[in-house]
Amino acid sequence: MEELVERIKEDGRVLGEGVLKVDSFVTHQVDPELMEAIGHRFAEVFADAGITKVVTIEASGIAPALFAAKKLAVPMIFARKAKSLTMDEELLTSSVYSFTKQVTSQISISRKFLSSDDKVLIIDDFLANGQAAKGLVELCQQAGAQVDGIGIVIEKSFQDGRDLLEKMGLRVISLARIASLKNGEVEFLEGDA
Ligand code: 5GP
Repeated sequence: MEELVERIKEDGRVLGEGVLKVDSFVTHQVDPELMEAIGHRFAEVFADAGITKVVTIEASGIAPALFAAKKLAVPMIFARKAKSLTMDEELLTSSVYSFTKQVTSQISISRKFLSSDDKVLIIDDFLANGQAAKGLVELCQQAGAQVDGIGIVIEKSFQDGRDLLEKMGLRVISLARIASLKNGEVEFLEGDA
């Protein structure tokens, strides 16, 4: 997605150890126009898939997932990282090792929001080693829901995430694909959409 790639070139900042900082338009301050365009692109790609729910993980997946869900006219569910006192129903849960925070946390979705009737599009802001996406797939599997695909805003293709998800038989659509972050430079591959 050209618009996204240009924005990463302009405003993305490479931190040490293979991390890209995009806090001025994705992960902290959010650009609604860009997020809407991203959400619509995902919705276009999955328009004929019969998606019934869009699933993401808090916090930075929520913006693109919400715009995709609105366009597909389905609900958006975000997995929670901390258990809230108000989550008193039965939960779907899985453990996710966070690439950026380097801790393992439990993620959860109330069982009542996903069922075996659902066809799910999973969306997240970044794909690194695939642990967040895998955790979301596991939540869907626990509910018996079918995962139709994974939409990623920024994929770091030099890490193992895509490989892991494709080996699980999942379709991965990444709007920006990064080949390398070496020497403080962002090098891109051709994106999927
Ligand atoms: P994974 O689970 O695929 O290893 O990592 C994906 C998660 O880690 C994303 O949800 C995102 O929050 C975070 N993440 C991974 N790599 C980066 C990065 O380079 N920059 C930022 N801002 N977040 C990242």
